[in-house]
Amino acid sequence: MSAAAKPPLRVLLCAPRGFCAGVVRAIDAVERALEIYGPPVYVRHEIVHNKYVVEGLKAKGAIFVEELSEIPATTTAPVIFSAHGVPKSVPAEAAALNFFAIDATCPLVTKVHREATLHNKRGREVVLIGHAGHPEVIGTMGQLPSGAVALVETAEQARVFTPRDPASLAYTTQTTLSIDDTAEIVAILQQRFPAMVSPHKEDICYATTNRQEAVKKVAGEVDAMIVVGAPNSSNSQRLREAAERQGCGLSVLLQRASEIDWEKFGAISTLAVTAGASAPEVLVEEIIDAFAERYAVKVETVHTVQEDVFFPLPRQLRPDIADTSANSAAE
Ligand code: SF4
Repeated sequence: MSAAAKPPLRVLLCAPRGFCAGVVRAIDAVERALEIYGPPVYVRHEIVHNKYVVEGLKAKGAIFVEELSEIPATTTAPVIFSAHGVPKSVPAEAAALNFFAIDATCPLVTKVHREATLHNKRGREVVLIGHAGHPEVIGTMGQLPSGAVALVETAEQARVFTPRDPASLAYTTQTTLSIDDTAEIVAILQQRFPAMVSPHKEDICYATTNRQEAVKKVAGEVDAMIVVGAPNSSNSQRLREAAERQGCGLSVLLQRASEIDWEKFGAISTLAVTAGASAPEVLVEEIIDAFAERYAVKVETVHTVQEDVFFPLPRQLRPDIADTSANSAAE
């Protein structure tokens, strides 16, 4: 199709979008472990929820498993825990198996783990606001003994939740939730249990917050929104919902350009594009390139806030202190 024949398309590129500091750290941890120790490097669960990233690391020698029991008991290779965090039983099992464990849990998830542990030590029941079955929720609940954490997923559940003792209650949240849904759930709980202790600083992380705010800013003025991300990525799903709630008529979560349903995108003149915290920029470019084949695309970046968060690598992988003899103590 010649450029002259293509219909015009204004593309608003949300900023910030894509990789957050926790995801960069987790991917770098696997790459660095491969460099230092050589393949294979075992990774428990998808290091971040993105197939493209996982396939790229597999090609370099990473082996992904869901449970430590899938790893040969005799290995001396590093075993890395994903950015989502793990229940306490996992590092304990790794130590019992004498594995060289490296924890790539995002420090902002670790912060939630610490909060939950502290509340528990102080005798408080912990309400965790989050989605059942997500690995981060499994990891956070698994910091405390069974039954110590009550999971609340919805406003309806918050309205009927019965604590053991309303005077001794605290809440924490999954880091990648909808800001608005969570505010509603917290308001209900606070109204019912005024003594409930809140986190000192929000548990929903800066990256989730910033990406949702960027989507909200543009979603009302575009015909369609594409969120680049995986279906099992919580923060990506929340971005798609945020655009829909803001009145965007077509809000779609896509992993690759090949998934674009061109029938749906036939009559648009404005499109916003963002990416979940685990989606690499190359996939955003791929999708814009696919639109550029059919439309005369004009891209404008819409900035909300500047991000400068950085997390250093796990201790065993830092150049100054890395111990290249495997089996050094797990962090
Ligand atoms: Fe950490 Fe937030 Fe990124 Fe999750 S989305 S890895 S909590 S910075």
